[in-house]
Amino acid sequence: MDHPMDNSPIKALQDILSYIEIHQYKIHKLVVVTKTHSYHLIQLLYDYGHRDFGENKYQEAKEKLIHVKVKPDFPLITHHLGPLQSGNARHIPEIFDWVHGVGSIHALAKLAKAAKKKFDLTKKKTYYLVQLNLTREETKLGGMFLEEFEEIIHTKPESFIQHEGLEWKGFMTMGPSNGDLEITQKIFRQLRIIRDKYLPLGDLSMGMSGDWKIALQEGATILRIGTAITGNRKY
Ligand SMILES: *Cc1c(COP(=O)(O)O)cnc(C)c1O
Repeated sequence: MDHPMDNSPIKALQDILSYIEIHQYKIHKLVVVTKTHSYHLIQLLYDYGHRDFGENKYQEAKEKLIHVKVKPDFPLITHHLGPLQSGNARHIPEIFDWVHGVGSIHALAKLAKAAKKKFDLTKKKTYYLVQLNLTREETKLGGMFLEEFEEIIHTKPESFIQHEGLEWKGFMTMGPSNGDLEITQKIFRQLRIIRDKYLPLGDLSMGMSGDWKIALQEGATILRIGTAITGNRKY
């Protein structure tokens, strides 16, 4: 799947994009999730004309991204997926434009500092999404519980930091780990209602390989699709 001459990821991407077009959904971004795959795959899709890519590990992403040949007039846009942690937050903006997994105010404060530093040096902004855990599963996948989010937004809304180099762009969530599509649909619908209430113009990052069609029905503006495009992950 990683061989540069294998075009099946392009075909899979085209199929998803044409589904979106045929059904007249309007999305902002389709993030192709390339974690565990080599930079050849990123290069293949970038050369085809795709620009948004998602990774979940800082070190792995950094090592890959230096190899990708990018045209100055068509910058690659990088998305960090997975829980933002206080330990890694200060490095994330160095190589990521978007951060999807903000589930901790403490980590967000660290991210804000690092984003300011990057902005001062490069004038490039960092964008983030607040991740909500609406399944209430105790998983390592991160996200704030809704009551935690609502408590903060009502009592200390300035915790959701924004400055010239950092912008809060919306919400992110994931369906239940057992893949139940009825529950997934309820959760996506709930996230949309939350978005409408607290950040009406915000993005909705929801929908992965197994549930992106449901996410589109429920108003997703950002899809994060890995295996349905890339094939199975390496580990
Ligand atoms: C890995 C990952 C994806 C992509 O998952 P697929 O099921 O391969 O499409 C999407 N979002 C997050 C947060 C991920 O970690």
